[in-house]
Amino acid sequence: MDIVINIYVFALGAILGSFFNVVIYRLPRKYSITHGTSFCPHCKHRIMPLELVPIFSYLFLKGKCAHCHTPISLRYPIIEFITGLSFLVAYWRFGLSYATIIAMILASLCIIIAMIDIDTMEIFDRFHIMIFSLALIYVFFISTLGLTSHLIGFFIISVPLYVIAVITNGIGGGDIKLMAVSGFLLGYQASLVAFFFGAIFGGIVAVYLLLTKQTQMKSLIAFGPYLCIGIFIAYIYGLEIFTWYMSLLT
Ligand SMILES: [Zn+2]
Repeated sequence: MDIVINIYVFALGAILGSFFNVVIYRLPRKYSITHGTSFCPHCKHRIMPLELVPIFSYLFLKGKCAHCHTPISLRYPIIEFITGLSFLVAYWRFGLSYATIIAMILASLCIIIAMIDIDTMEIFDRFHIMIFSLALIYVFFISTLGLTSHLIGFFIISVPLYVIAVITNGIGGGDIKLMAVSGFLLGYQASLVAFFFGAIFGGIVAVYLLLTKQTQMKSLIAFGPYLCIGIFIAYIYGLEIFTWYMSLLT
């Protein structure tokens, strides 16, 4: 029975991930998300339902358009896979619960935010509003942390980031707002964990790019995607990591 639920949860994520690919592609171009069928950007061949099965279609078509054989970007199946996997992780951690639903919505928003940030270096305000709305539901109906922790979470990373941004001009307003609204969702303990992981991942990639002199890969320097990874990790394991770290200090 459990294997069935696992497959179902992964499939749900992969199918939604396939929809997120559409959102990530169309939103920055201001195309309609609900109208219009998908087509191959090269030959305009309309993509048939059978060519839209997440991950499998890509494998079946060997990564090429069925009509003109132009290679399809590997990022489409990767996003489907990552969405499925993050849904699975949420289910493994919280079982069948409201916390899992919040985790799935959060993972979805993080994936869309991260990919659009990589493409455009921008985080749209509507996503901050969505995370904040999600946070309100979580804080008042699900969280056991207490309101104070969530309120401190709103400021604990965003305010220092704002100060750094004013001094260095090196951090985007989108990142600051992202850490404010997700800090409110996570509470201050997990916010610190989220930022820690974001800075580590972002730092590793920045150093790698500097060492290999790939400075033209500017898109990878967007901070948002690393913060998004940190935020999801922190939602899943933030409190445990924070408690473990504090126990080292005492
Ligand atoms: Zn084509």
